[in-house]
Amino acid sequence: MTIDATRSDQVLDTLRRHAKRITEPKRAVVEVLVGADDHLTADEVTQRVQLLRPDVSPSTVYRILEELEDLALVVHSHAGHAAAVYHLAGQSHGHVTCVICHVTFEVSSDVFDRLARELMSSDGFELDRHHVALSGICQHCRS
Ligand SMILES: [Zn+2]
Ligand SMILES: [Zn+2]
Ligand SMILES: [Zn+2]
Repeated sequence: MTIDATRSDQVLDTLRRHAKRITEPKRAVVEVLVGADDHLTADEVTQRVQLLRPDVSPSTVYRILEELEDLALVVHSHAGHAAAVYHLAGQSHGHVTCVICHVTFEVSSDVFDRLARELMSSDGFELDRHHVALSGICQHCRS
């Protein structure tokens, strides 16, 4: 796991600006999220945090994820019926998930930009591209 120290510092700075205490478990959760090149469920975040700090309980990790979400530092999304996944905010991709193999893919923001523009002009609807994945059948499962 490579740690992007700058990114961690930015997140921790935002916490400080909101007068939040920087606890060791919080530091560990932020490190895990910054180091993840992937979308992690809360359980996966917990497992990785516990590699750094075995004493951190799952409920602590859940509380920290909630706090980070309240400050818009972390976002979660749902893919099909699987557990919600978390990652740092600031990525503008959308998700599609395959109903057969249950794999979730990131889709480039261009596709969702176009969809978002059309929804806005046709229905005045503001798309939240990240929260819920579109479902369908992936290329692999179609063949
Ligand atoms: Zn949700
Ligand atoms: Zn995502
Ligand atoms: Zn598939």
